Amino acid sequence: MSICAALIVAAGRGQRFGGELPKQYAPLNGERLLRRTLRAFCGHPKVRRVVVAIHPDDADVFAEVAAGFAGVTSVHGGATRQDSVRMGLEALGASAPDFVLIHDGARPMVSAALIDSVIAELRAGSRAADGVLPALAVFDTMKRVGADGWIGETMPRENIVRAQTPQGFRFQAILDAHRKFSRESLTDDAAVLERAQGRIVTVPGDETNIKVTTMEDLARLAAALTETRTGQGFDVHRFGPGDHVMLCGLKVPHSHGLIGHSDADVALHAGTDAILGAFAAGDIGQHFPPSDPKWRGAASDRFLRHAYDLLRERGGALIHLDFTIICERPKVGPHRAAMVASVARILGVEEGRISVKATTTEGLGFTGRAEGIAAQALATVRI
Ligand code: MG
Repeated sequence: MSICAALIVAAGRGQRFGGELPKQYAPLNGERLLRRTLRAFCGHPKVRRVVVAIHPDDADVFAEVAAGFAGVTSVHGGATRQDSVRMGLEALGASAPDFVLIHDGARPMVSAALIDSVIAELRAGSRAADGVLPALAVFDTMKRVGADGWIGETMPRENIVRAQTPQGFRFQAILDAHRKFSRESLTDDAAVLERAQGRIVTVPGDETNIKVTTMEDLARLAAALTETRTGQGFDVHRFGPGDHVMLCGLKVPHSHGLIGHSDADVALHAGTDAILGAFAAGDIGQHFPPSDPKWRGAASDRFLRHAYDLLRERGGALIHLDFTIICERPKVGPHRAAMVASVARILGVEEGRISVKATTTEGLGFTGRAEGIAAQALATVRI
């Protein structure tokens, strides 16, 4: 079976992007773009090795990005994309593969199906191609605009396509072409092979496989990847001596208190777990170990707020948080509106996103015997 390697080009500085780090290291839903790109190739069964051309300044952030992926190596790229590709190909040449896929690091949405189709076309050899290019049709009318800003002419678009990556090549053909035309400035690898009279065919590209160039591209991609999730939380605290209980951050007078390491706000504990659960971030005990004296008597609004802040750090937003408080006493109804207002204030969200309901268990079980209070919460988040 022929061997296929991938070369990811990630050495650019991305002047059009304007972030602290080059665009290929920008976070997308909590994960750097390049890591998502790497996953597509490292996880592909037909790709044997992956070489990434990086900028020497990015060695540390690249180590973080590549952590946990097997079969990935990096090589320092050059001043231009073309230089970086050539250096990557030379690095692969030490044990040359039959085919190489060359891909932009800033195209994180590349699908396994697109990689498959490029490899299949290379291997089939039915068109005896030296290169395979994923291409998309152009639907907008194309105009040539003069330096003065005036429209010069309308270009025929029938035979125009947009070139994407990964572009696949017979390894020796693309290496030879890059060596031969290293002094010419060409914008993609197909263009380099064209200069060497290589035969290149197209396969259908993929509209979702966009190249992130600007901050707006990144925002659009993040919006497209947004999903809605729910998380649930449940908690119980036992009654003990006292003259009030804390529920949803509100002090509610009662003949007993609730026993707990913190202020025993059973509803906020359930709410904290619900939010953490919605983005798979563990549970309240992990974030605030009861063994830690720091949390003794702590006001539980800090727990809820912490979970919410973590959610927002991951790019998430709270859509709705719905509580059910289960007890015979104290009566929740008279305090319900104040509880909603309290939770809304803790999180800084509008009250319409918070719901507090109450029920009894008809005298049955521990809540029915008024031994304690249980609470459930359901968080719905966009992330
Ligand atoms: Mg608790």
